Amino acid sequence: MAKHQFQTEIGQLLKLMTYSLYSNKEIFIRELISNASDAIDKFNYMQLTDEQFKSANWNGKINVNIDEADGSLTIADNGIGMNEEDLMANLGTIANSGTKKFVEQMTGDAKKDSNLIGQFGVGFYSVFMVSDKVDVITKKAGEDQAYMFSSDGQGEFELKPVTKEEHGTIVYIKLREEEKEFLSKWRVQEVIKKYSNHIAYPIMMHFTKEETEGEGDNKTTKKVKKTEQANAATALWTLSKSELKKEDYIEFYKTLSHGDDEPLTYLHNKVEGAQEFTTLFYIPKTAPFDLYRADYQSSVKLYVKRVFITDDDKELLPTYLRFVKGIIDSEDLPLNVSREILQENRILANIKQNSTKKILQAIKKLKDEDMNLFTEQYNRVIKEGIFQDYTNKELLLEIVRYKSSTQEGMVSLDDYISRGDSEKKEIYYIIGENEKVVRNSPLLEAYKKAEIEVLILDDKEIDEIVTPSIATFKEWTLKDITTMDAPDSKTAEEKEEISKEFKSLTDRIKAVLGEEVKAVKTTARLTTSPSCVVKDSSDPMAGMAHMFMQMGQAMPEIPLILEINPDHEMVKKLDKLEDSSKFEDMAWILLDSAKLAEGIEPKDKFAFASRIANIATQAL
Ligand code: ADP
Repeated sequence: MAKHQFQTEIGQLLKLMTYSLYSNKEIFIRELISNASDAIDKFNYMQLTDEQFKSANWNGKINVNIDEADGSLTIADNGIGMNEEDLMANLGTIANSGTKKFVEQMTGDAKKDSNLIGQFGVGFYSVFMVSDKVDVITKKAGEDQAYMFSSDGQGEFELKPVTKEEHGTIVYIKLREEEKEFLSKWRVQEVIKKYSNHIAYPIMMHFTKEETEGEGDNKTTKKVKKTEQANAATALWTLSKSELKKEDYIEFYKTLSHGDDEPLTYLHNKVEGAQEFTTLFYIPKTAPFDLYRADYQSSVKLYVKRVFITDDDKELLPTYLRFVKGIIDSEDLPLNVSREILQENRILANIKQNSTKKILQAIKKLKDEDMNLFTEQYNRVIKEGIFQDYTNKELLLEIVRYKSSTQEGMVSLDDYISRGDSEKKEIYYIIGENEKVVRNSPLLEAYKKAEIEVLILDDKEIDEIVTPSIATFKEWTLKDITTMDAPDSKTAEEKEEISKEFKSLTDRIKAVLGEEVKAVKTTARLTTSPSCVVKDSSDPMAGMAHMFMQMGQAMPEIPLILEINPDHEMVKKLDKLEDSSKFEDMAWILLDSAKLAEGIEPKDKFAFASRIANIATQAL
């Protein structure tokens, strides 16, 4: 017998579990049955596709045995089973690097971590909430040797060879004294009905019952062994919507997600016609922890005629919908689909297209409060979608939300349009590093004055790439206010006049700043600030960030134009300033402070600081 140490993170997980899930211990039954069902799914597929495993009389089945005398519960399946390596890898370590990282991040603050655990799912280890002696006896299909894994959930486990006839897994759970409620047939049945009613395989419960025989003095009671099927054993998604209640969908979701949260929404569709398939999708309330990891796990399972094929195909839905959990069951795909075939399969492509549309429509229909939750969790991936999915761009644009210069909270483009100028049909936006910087940008001054709404885009990294690619929404043109003239009340002639009046000043400033700016101009867009910087809209690179992104290249710097406010006291005084060294300092300060207001660093921070100090000293 060999002793092994659990990976550190599992030790941590085990400890956390005892704290965080104690009020909901019953879920260990759900988790073990879900594992059993997955294992049967896998063998079912092998059986249908591999000559070696073809067998006329195999039927997937889960047995739950209650042994009152022994104080134990046993959950057995005739699925794929595990060999020694599988046991080490699956039960002894957390294999997925994302999950591992996630556990590492847990703080030991039981309250905080219990929320995390909820979305992460607990799986097999949940069994240690009710037991400190668990044996897993298992034999992998096609192999001769069976193994036993034993652990008390305290940081160590043992592995040894044993004998077992059939392939599959038996999990023996010696219940702790205070967990004896799970020896009641009624209690166990209740839990199975609640979470596992629509597991596709029969769950047979074995228990003993006291029965009385005879009359009067001859009356004897004896214990009789009984067997009952505890679940409906029909895959939930194969039932018609009218047979299912909201609770059914929610309990099934909990089985699927290994969590305790309810979904934000779900959608169940049966498509009939040239192609037949059924889909059941859920939108989780909280985004999976690996949403932004390259090695995220797919959460959609593919079935063919109710036979499980894979849960590891990231192509089933577009990548930006990677937070969706659910099931696709096709009637038309061949059972022996290989991964390569899946990649370029027309049937699947069609299912993907149909599913994407349905999911987006369901999201669009979310009520306000749910939509806010959705936006909080997924706005960013929806932006990814806008960029990636040309076909569904319109729908995605109806879903995405932005901050606004005139409204509280997040607004939709449809909202914006309903308030906007329907003659001009323009949607204004500004992109910046963070909300505060953007809201205080001098570039917004003229819009504030004219009471024109501007969308505040503060997720610069992604907004800068995605937004220029939108171009229009329902015939309205999207306009970046940093590359266009601002609204004002002056005529072109008046502006020309002002520009001439200040020509000597703008020329002098340009001479000081040299190549640092493309041009220096007067502007009517400012009210309180003396200066601002804008991107040169005539530059061929402006608005092409998405192209560089697609080519995998960094965006080249677009030259800036310095605009000065001719009505500002400082600018007026500067125009008359003779002292050339003071003038130089002021020219740089105009540029650098305008840059700072847009969240752009001055070229030389030290020079900027010392110029400010110079000017301040003189002012005193
Ligand atoms: P999860 O089910 O979320 O992957 P678990 O901790 O429950 O996490 O299980 C870890 C792995 O152990 C499973 O992915 C599976 O490969 C394996 N496993 C667990 N139970 C069984 C079983 N009854 N039969 C075969 N493999 C199993």
